[in-house]
Amino acid sequence: MPLLSKVKTMQALHLMSEMFPDAKGELNAKNPFELLIAVTLSAQTTDVAVNKVTPALFKAYPTPEKLAMAQTDDIIELIKTIGLYRNKAKNIKAAAQMLLDEFEGQVPKTHEELEMLPGVGRKTANVVLGDAFGIPGIAVDTHVQRVSKRLRIAKLDASVKEVELALMKRVPEELWVKAHHTIILFGRYHCTARKPKCEECPLLELCADGKQRMKEKKKA
Ligand code: SF4
Repeated sequence: MPLLSKVKTMQALHLMSEMFPDAKGELNAKNPFELLIAVTLSAQTTDVAVNKVTPALFKAYPTPEKLAMAQTDDIIELIKTIGLYRNKAKNIKAAAQMLLDEFEGQVPKTHEELEMLPGVGRKTANVVLGDAFGIPGIAVDTHVQRVSKRLRIAKLDASVKEVELALMKRVPEELWVKAHHTIILFGRYHCTARKPKCEECPLLELCADGKQRMKEKKKA
C-alpha cells in the first residue's frame, strides 16, 4: 500500500482544519514555565484532568524557585487525581530545580536542553517549543500517530520519530504547530481509537483504513 502523497496529505489536513478551525492546545498555562509543567503532567492523562489540578498547583508554586523548594508529598496531594502522579510530582520538582541550576530559572528553547529535564521527552519538548515560543515542531502523541497511520501518511509500523518525519516531509514548516493541534483534535473527537466516524468522514476518499473499514462493514 503506497503512502499518502504530499498533495493528498495537505488535502487531508485542509479537511481536518475545516472541521476544527480553531485548533490549539487545550492545556491552560499563562507562561512557558506553566506550560512545561502542564505538558509534563499530561503524559497518559487527559488535558481536562490536568486543567483541573493546575490552578491550585500554580497558585501554590508559581515559579521554579517555589516548586523546587516544595515537599514532594505536598505536590502529590495537589495532583493525585491524575495518572502516574507520584512520578510526575518527583519529575516536576526535579525539573524546576534543573531550571534553576542549569538555565537561570528560564525554560530553555532547544530540544536538546528541554530533553535534559526530568519527565520531558521529544513530544513534550515539541509542544513547549511550538506553543510557548512559536518554534516549529510536530509533537506526535497517540492521536497524531493513529490518524497518520490510518491515512497512511506513515507506515503502520512507523516509530514515533518516523511519524514525525513523515509529517515534516509533507507539511510546510510554518504549519507544523497548527497541524499538530488540528490532527490531535481530529483524532480525539472524530477519528477516535475505538469508533472512528468513517461513514461521515470527509476524508474517507483519502483514507486507506477508512475505505477498508467501510468495505468490511458492507460485507458484514
Ligand atoms: Fe479516520 Fe475513518 Fe476518517 Fe479514515 S475515514 S480518517 S479512519 S474517521
